[in-house]
Amino acid sequence: METILVLMHTEDDGTLGKPARESLAAATSLQAALAGSTLTVGLVGADVQGAADSVASCGADRFFGVAGAAFGQSRYATDALAAEALCREVGANLVLAAGTSRWCRALPGVAHRVGGRADTHVTGLSVADGAVSIARWYYRQRMEATIRRTQHPWVVLTDPGCVAPWEGASGAATVQVIAVEPPAACLRTAVTGFLAPAADAQTIRPDADLLLVAGAGWTKTQADGTTHAPEAADLILAFLRKTRASLGGSKSLVDISGEGQAVLPFMTHLNQIGQTGATPRHPKGLATCCHGEEPHTVGWRFIGERRAVNLDPNCGWARGKADVLYVADAFAVMAKVNALLGEQPPA
Ligand SMILES: Cc1cc2nc3c(=O)[nH]c(=O)nc-3n(C[C@H](O)[C@H](O)[C@H](O)COP(=O)(O)OP(=O)(O)OC[C@H]3O[C@@H](n4cnc5c(N)ncnc54)[C@H](O)[C@@H]3O)c2cc1C
Repeated sequence: METILVLMHTEDDGTLGKPARESLAAATSLQAALAGSTLTVGLVGADVQGAADSVASCGADRFFGVAGAAFGQSRYATDALAAEALCREVGANLVLAAGTSRWCRALPGVAHRVGGRADTHVTGLSVADGAVSIARWYYRQRMEATIRRTQHPWVVLTDPGCVAPWEGASGAATVQVIAVEPPAACLRTAVTGFLAPAADAQTIRPDADLLLVAGAGWTKTQADGTTHAPEAADLILAFLRKTRASLGGSKSLVDISGEGQAVLPFMTHLNQIGQTGATPRHPKGLATCCHGEEPHTVGWRFIGERRAVNLDPNCGWARGKADVLYVADAFAVMAKVNALLGEQPPA
């Protein structure tokens, strides 16, 4: 019989983030599939009652919490203390949590403390013959493995965006708060604030419905014999402003931008998609002026619907990498798309 614990930390405002609700959805599915299993919610934060109430109807048997000012911030020492206390209290043999930066840092250490094992970047969970398996990708999303473990507790961190988040009615949850007093040595690190680009300078939006990818073609000599980088920048930024799409780039383009050539100044290596870049998850993706090379498209594996605009009918996208390829001039296409989108803000 599995004793499932789903660990969730609160956000700064005391609510539960989307990744936390995704891990809760994974845990409730698992409990439903495992006969005789129990589900416990474990919450960590400055104050966890509001978070517990927001998921009161999730079907958990029990709610436990570790709360207090010391647990309101992301800090390995206190997060590990809190999670360890919850694991021990519940006697969990299966621990689910979202792969947030906070839990990814703390929970592998917790698994070690409680004599268990941890798996990160888990993209799916399944049950067959009463046994749990996880899915995980290797070699930059080229090989998918299905893994079972006999060692318990088994700590499973699910990658954000793989499961639909739990939705349900709020209510009044009875939270059993576990008293955890962090020693002074655990409080040496303090989060003093966040540095983030201004909202309109932030081009990476993991929750956007659409990913727009720009390739090096935007900076190449065009049919008139000249380059048009400023126009390219205007077209891309206008599209992002109108759609709130996330922006990705090919390695070639981010390298050019990083080498000091002021081609597309808003493009950094953080935007790079692919084998040596990011593997984002968006329902739709549109590649523009990008050739569709294998090391690039390997990062598109989890994009739901893939479209590309390229002048070259023999580009990589034409070889099964895209669902739809428009053989066209991306400058003309994006100008027309922007005109059709108009100036109204996105719905
Ligand atoms: C080990 C390794 C790892 C790598 N990892 C990555 C990675 O993580 N991500 C990545 O992106 N790359 C990666 N690469 C590099 C990759 O192989 C390609 O070199 C790179 O993706 C090419 O970028 P690009 O398509 O933007 O540029 P190009 O290959 O120069 O293609 C530009 C395209 O723009 C088109 N074009 C030009 N003008 C227009 C226009 N007006 N309208 C429409 N189309 C136009 C051209 O037809 C051309 O197809 C890796 C390579 C290696 C060896």
